[in-house]
Amino acid sequence: MLRTAARSFGLATRALPKRTFTHSAIARNAIPASLQTFTEEELMLKESVARFAQDVIKPKVNEMDETEHMDASIIKGLFDQGLMGIETEAEYDGSNCSFTSAIIVIEELAKVDPSVSVLCDVQNTLVGTVVRKYGSEALKSRYLPKLATESVGSFCLSESGSGSDAFALQTRAVEKDDHYVLNGSKMWITNSGEADVFLVFANVDPSKGYKGITCFVVDKSMGVQIAKKESKLGIRASSTCVLNFDDIKVPKENVLGEVGKGYKYAIEILNEGRIGIAAQMIGLAQGAYDIALPYLFQRKQFNTNIGDFQGMQHQYAQIAVEIEAARLLTYNAARLKEEGRNFIKEAAMAKLYASQIAEKAASKAIEWCGGVGFTRELGVEKFYRDAKIGAIYEGTSNIQLQTIAKLVSAQYK
Ligand SMILES: Cc1cc2nc3c(=O)[nH]c(=O)nc-3n(C[C@H](O)[C@H](O)[C@H](O)COP(=O)(O)OP(=O)(O)OC[C@H]3O[C@@H](n4cnc5c(N)ncnc54)[C@H](O)[C@@H]3O)c2cc1C
Repeated sequence: MLRTAARSFGLATRALPKRTFTHSAIARNAIPASLQTFTEEELMLKESVARFAQDVIKPKVNEMDETEHMDASIIKGLFDQGLMGIETEAEYDGSNCSFTSAIIVIEELAKVDPSVSVLCDVQNTLVGTVVRKYGSEALKSRYLPKLATESVGSFCLSESGSGSDAFALQTRAVEKDDHYVLNGSKMWITNSGEADVFLVFANVDPSKGYKGITCFVVDKSMGVQIAKKESKLGIRASSTCVLNFDDIKVPKENVLGEVGKGYKYAIEILNEGRIGIAAQMIGLAQGAYDIALPYLFQRKQFNTNIGDFQGMQHQYAQIAVEIEAARLLTYNAARLKEEGRNFIKEAAMAKLYASQIAEKAASKAIEWCGGVGFTRELGVEKFYRDAKIGAIYEGTSNIQLQTIAKLVSAQYK
């Protein structure tokens, strides 16, 4: 099956060229382009995802939020559209697109529903990427086609006692004959209500500290238990569960990459995953803005469109600038990563700033719409609730600031 996904994007069913450069190639052939310059494939993808979000997701957003449930038809739609294996190579049934493509998809989905966006984000920027980057050929052949076409995946690092201090995790994996036995518990795991595939970080040798941390690919059928589904402030349609592993037998071939290297994979993947959360947040900010702005020119007070009062103009102009700045930080981090250049500081800046702007834009959108903004009628209050998570997952805002401070200070010490 050569990707139906590529067809869904309106792209030819051939392996699509990735937009990858080496640094020196850029220097030699530099054609300066704005950060808003996309390849033809990226533009087509952006348009088709925006259509999918409007036609398929939007009618279900409120109900999914109210019921705290992700509609199965939306997950199927994401698979059918080729949006669950965006960077995965065509030989593994993926869409073989660029990292920036994934960022564009996450942003477009978040403009309509940040819950659907994070489902797609975790699948692509965390789960799929870990398997692609570090998996053996056998694991890639077994799991990448599933992840691209039918199986939702979860990235299981956090535990009740280890969030920001992720490597203090207590889940254990004990080697026995041809397998490992997993025992422990994970907290707040995105997509876990729907997932069949779990990337589980466990320590095989606590005496080595974080150097015992190893990543395992665990099928739900091996015995993963969903202990509890959390009820949340925002992104309520995205499942966030507590998982238990009770003497789960995981075959040795399901060790992802090298034993004891899980900490390295987690750090590397979260560094780039943050760009995905930044994209989710800029999409969210734009989604709230796009609801509020038309309202400002329909609503009259004192015989005037409220959007024509200078006190309002200055506010929505300010937010427009801030969304644009967050977007440019995000696209810049994405392109740096794609070009193989250092991007860690820029990714942390993008995630930090985009989450701040998302909260601010959604908050302002509610105020601009007045009483109706505070009700559930327009949907801006949902964006406000959804925004808060941006400052928490994949590294809290303090952790982003710490990363930025470390890299900035190194330049001056
Ligand atoms: C909806 C949701 C989805 C999630 N999805 C996943 C997932 O799919 N997979 C996964 O593994 N995890 C997931 N998480 C967990 C998430 O990554 C953690 O919640 C996050 O890393 C913060 O950890 P914590 O909750 O333990 O907070 P803590 O680490 O206890 O932090 C609490 C506060 O202390 C501050 N703090 C902590 N350490 C420092 C420090 N050194 N300096 C300054 N301030 C500090 C933090 O900034 C924060 O303000 C999810 C969480 C939520 C809520």
